[in-house]
Amino acid sequence: GAGLSGDYSRLMGWADKFRKLQVRANAETPADAAQAYKFGAEGIGLVRTEHMFFDEQKIKAVREMILAKTQTQRQKAVDKMHVMQREDFIKVFEAMQGQPVTIRLIDPPLHEFLPKEGENLEALAAELETTPAALEKAIVELHEVNPMMGHRGCRLAVSYPEIAKMQTEAIIEAAITVTEAHKDWRFVPEIMVPLITDLKELKYIKGIIVAAAEAVLKAHDSDLKYMIGTMVETPRAALLADEIATEADFYSFGTNDLTQMTFGLSRDDAASYLGSYYDKKIFDFDPFATLDLRGVGQLIERATELGRSVKPNLKLGICGEHGGDPASVEFCHKVGLNYVSCSPYRVPIARLAAAQAAIKFPRD
Ligand code: PEP
Ligand code: MG
Repeated sequence: GAGLSGDYSRLMGWADKFRKLQVRANAETPADAAQAYKFGAEGIGLVRTEHMFFDEQKIKAVREMILAKTQTQRQKAVDKMHVMQREDFIKVFEAMQGQPVTIRLIDPPLHEFLPKEGENLEALAAELETTPAALEKAIVELHEVNPMMGHRGCRLAVSYPEIAKMQTEAIIEAAITVTEAHKDWRFVPEIMVPLITDLKELKYIKGIIVAAAEAVLKAHDSDLKYMIGTMVETPRAALLADEIATEADFYSFGTNDLTQMTFGLSRDDAASYLGSYYDKKIFDFDPFATLDLRGVGQLIERATELGRSVKPNLKLGICGEHGGDPASVEFCHKVGLNYVSCSPYRVPIARLAAAQAAIKFPRD
């Protein structure tokens, strides 16, 4: 990790005296979390739990779950995932020393866990104790024309409640473990549901989360507190933020998806053909790098107003890439968000940007 000099600490100390925004980091490995902590992150604003399964051993369990033919097989795979998640959460919580951590339920379409074109299905099938044909069938079945607008986010939790249940159990168990080891921590894990568009979705999934969490707490005779919130990353969620706030403890603006959905522009493809369009020809900025204040920004302002009209203390943050962009951080400060969350190496920039914004635009 980076050794941090006295000058760095002094500069950041000045910045911290002024800024109103907290600065968190997006991280899912203990190494990234530790790096973020060193840079002064005040928590993790986004643990992308899907990334925790992308190593070779771990992805196998997810594949077994997808390929399971019986409920027993499926549960066996989910149980494997459970053990891995609990261990990984403990490590990440430990790295953050009791600071808040927002853990997001699995978000991407499940086909992202299956082999891509060109991979050797024979070998993989043998490893998974299945046939290449069965593997191919699963790939075909999970295919979607528009996966980013498809079977992902909260929709996954509805189709696969056992995943949401397992993740919740692992989060609560890990939180109990670390708070028993560190009696002075007031650690409150924050469980986050992705891609909500409607109060009904959140209510339904919250039911699964609360049932799972309460069962674990009871089994451990624990009075640990936890929060349940959602991402605001669809325009509809932003516009219905007052309704949705009735069931949410916090909102995190997912400005990557919110930008994609507001512009109707694929975040994964745009860079390859629209770079010059956004940077020079038509616009003078790239909306995936710097927050589009006029459109996406308006949705964030509206959602903030609506959410706080129902819950004045609703905790609000941003965890899209914009959280580490100075102009976007200034906007977040002006709107009155509580925190920005960015990649670990952007934490110092975000701390400085938050201080500059606070000096330029004083707020409480
Ligand atoms: C987002 O959409 O802004 C976000 C943070 O989630 P992800 O990038 O994982 O979709
Ligand atoms: Mg997203």
